Amino acid sequence: PQISLPEMLRDSAERFSGRPAISFYHVTLTYEQVWWMVQRAAVGLAAAGVRKGDRVAIMLPNCPHYVIAYYAVLAVGGVVVQVNPMYTGAELEHLLVDADPKVIVAYEPLWGKVEAVWEKTHLERAYLVQFPGPVQTPATERVQPVEALLGAQGDPPSVAISPEDTAVLQYTGGTTGYSKGAMLTHRNLVANVHQSLADFRDGLRDGEEVILLVLPLFHVYGMTVGMNLGIAVGANLVMLPRFQLDEVLDAIKTAKPTMFPGVPTMYVAVNSHPKAREYGIDSIRICNSGSAPLPVEVLRAFEEKTGGKILEGYGLTEASPVTHTNPYHGVRKIGSIGLPVAGTEARIVDVATGLQELPPGEPGELVVRGPQVMKGYWNRPEETAQVLRDGWLHTGDIATRDDDGYYYIVDRKKDMIIASGFNVYPREVEEVLYTHPGIQEAAVVGVPDPYRGETVKAYVVCKPGVTLTRDEVIAFCRERMAHYKAPTEVEFREELPKSSVGKILRRALRDSQQ
Ligand code: ATP
Repeated sequence: PQISLPEMLRDSAERFSGRPAISFYHVTLTYEQVWWMVQRAAVGLAAAGVRKGDRVAIMLPNCPHYVIAYYAVLAVGGVVVQVNPMYTGAELEHLLVDADPKVIVAYEPLWGKVEAVWEKTHLERAYLVQFPGPVQTPATERVQPVEALLGAQGDPPSVAISPEDTAVLQYTGGTTGYSKGAMLTHRNLVANVHQSLADFRDGLRDGEEVILLVLPLFHVYGMTVGMNLGIAVGANLVMLPRFQLDEVLDAIKTAKPTMFPGVPTMYVAVNSHPKAREYGIDSIRICNSGSAPLPVEVLRAFEEKTGGKILEGYGLTEASPVTHTNPYHGVRKIGSIGLPVAGTEARIVDVATGLQELPPGEPGELVVRGPQVMKGYWNRPEETAQVLRDGWLHTGDIATRDDDGYYYIVDRKKDMIIASGFNVYPREVEEVLYTHPGIQEAAVVGVPDPYRGETVKAYVVCKPGVTLTRDEVIAFCRERMAHYKAPTEVEFREELPKSSVGKILRRALRDSQQ
C-alpha cells in the first residue's frame, strides 16, 4: 500500500491518466491534468515559503481547486487545515489562532471574513478562488488570485513524507461542543480509504466509477469517502458546491453516478420529491449514509420511492472517519451501522469506567482501535488523553452489538435524557416520530423540568400540507413507548437547525430553550 496521499494521487494519475477525475458544471479535468496542476501549485506554495509541517488553511466550497490545493499542500509536506466556509467571524478566529496556518486558500466571497481576523493570526498570504472566475480583488503582497500559485515555474520540491506525518487538521464537527483539531496522518487517511474500499471492493471498478460529491470536502466524510476514495479508484468526482434538491436530482440524471455518499437529511429531502424515481436513483449502486442516525423509516421510504439501496455506516472525525459499515456483499442489517471495517477492532465497554467489556445486547460506550485512529488533538494533550486510552478511541457513543457482530448506535452519551431518573435515548423517540405519516423531520432533546429533572421535548417538522397538534403527537408516542419516554412537550418548526454537513443540531435546539 502507498504511504502518502500525494503518492496515491500520482499512482492514479499514471493508471487513469486520460480519464475524467473531476467534473464541475461544464469543466472536466483528467487525472493527468489534476496531477499537473497539483505539481504547479506545490511549486507555488514552496515559493511562498511553505515548508514541511507548516499549516495551510483551505476555506472553499466543493470545486476543482479544493482537490488541487489539498494535494499540493500535502505534496510539499504541509498540513491541510480544513475550514468550514460557513464559519462566523468568531469561529474562524478560534480556528485560525488554534491551527496557526501560514497561508490560506479561500473562496473570494469569503475574503472579507478572513481579512477581518487577519491581524490576530500569523497568516502571511492568501490565495483567492472564484468560479467561474476571474478573481476581482486587486492583487497585493498578501492576497493574490489562485492563478498566481498555479502559474509557478520549475520542479516541485522533493520532500520526504513519513506515514506518521500529520496530513490534515480536521476540526471536530462541533455538534456537541467547541471544535478541536484532530491530527490525521497520511497513514490514517490512506488506511481509511483502503478499509472502506475493502468493503465495497467488488462493488467498485477501477477507472469506471462516478461519485456524486455534494458532501462538503471540508468535512471528514466527504474528504475520505468522496474525494480520497474516489481518487484511489480513478473515479470521476462530480462535484456540487451545495445541496439543492433539484440540482442534485439533475446531476443524478445527467452524470449517472454509481456512488452517492450522503447523510440522512439528504435522503429525507429526496423522499420529499414527488417524482424522485424518475431521476434514475436506482442506478446508483452505493448510496452511503453516515454521520448521523438514519431513521429506519427514512431508509424504507427512500428505497420504496426511488428503488435505490442505502448502506449505512458510521464514523467520527477522530477516526478519519470510517470505523463501521454494512457490507456491499453479505448481510445488510437495517438500523445497524454494520460491522467494523477491515483492520478495526471494536468493543462495547462500561460507560462509567470505560474499562469492562460488555456482552452482546448490552448498551455501553463504543471504543475502537485501528490504523485510522488519529494521532491526537492538536495542542490538547488533556483532551487527547481522555479519548485515546491504550490506542483505543472512546467514541462518546452508546452502542450495542448483536450475536452476529453487527453494531447499533443507541445514541450519543451526551444527549441521553434522564427523566424522573429513567434513561431516555432521544433516537428511540425520534425513530417512532418518523413512523408518523405526517412527520417529515423530528428531533428530541431533554429540557429542564422542576419535577422530573429533565423532560422529553420533541421538535417536529410536518410534511407539506399537514397540520398536527401537540396532543396528537404525544398520544401517538404514548401508544408506542413507555410513558416516561414519550414527549411531554412538542414544538412545531418550519425547519430544524442543521450543521454544515446536514446533521440536525440537538444542541442548538436545547440552547434555544434558555
Ligand atoms: P463534535 O464531536 O464536535 O461534538 P460531531 O460529533 O458531530 O461533533 P463528527 O466527528 O462529525 O463530529 O461526527 C461523529 C459522530 O456522528 C459520531 O460520534 C456519532 O455520534 C454520529 N454518527 C456518525 N454516524 C452515525 C450513524 N450511522 N448513526 C448514528 N450516529 C452516527
